[in-house]
Amino acid sequence: MEPSELLARARKRAANPSDPLDTLAAANELSQEMTRDADALIDLAVRDARAAGTSWTAIGDRLGVSKQAARKRFTRNFTHPFSARKTRRAAACSFCRKPPNPHLHMVYGEGGRICAECVALAAEIVADKAKTR
Ligand SMILES: [Zn+2]
Repeated sequence: MEPSELLARARKRAANPSDPLDTLAAANELSQEMTRDADALIDLAVRDARAAGTSWTAIGDRLGVSKQAARKRFTRNFTHPFSARKTRRAAACSFCRKPPNPHLHMVYGEGGRICAECVALAAEIVADKAKTR
C-alpha cells in the first residue's frame, strides 16, 4: 500500500481530519497496528517453517540473523509443550531458575532440582545459623 493511501486512511480515523496533529496521532496508531500485524506475519511464517522441520540456522539465514537470534526472538511465542525453552525451564534449578548446563551440577529431588550454586549458598546459610546458636 502506498504511503499516500495510508495517510488517507489515517485522516479518516483522525478525531478532526483537518487538524494535522490529529492525523499524525491517527497515523502513529495505524503504524503501530501495522507493525504488530507484520510481526504476527513473520511469527506465523516461522511457526510454519518450524512445523515443516526447518532448522533455526536456515530460518536465521533467511531473516539475516544468527541461528541464536532467530531462536531467541521466536521461541518465546511458541506454546508447543516441547519447545526448547519450555523444556529448559522445566529442567531449571527450582531455587534460582538457572537452566541446566554442562558446567553447573544439578541435584534432582522428588519435587524439583537444585543447582550446585544454590547448594553452596544453602550450606553457607545453614553454617551461619549454626554459628549464631
Ligand atoms: Zn540454583
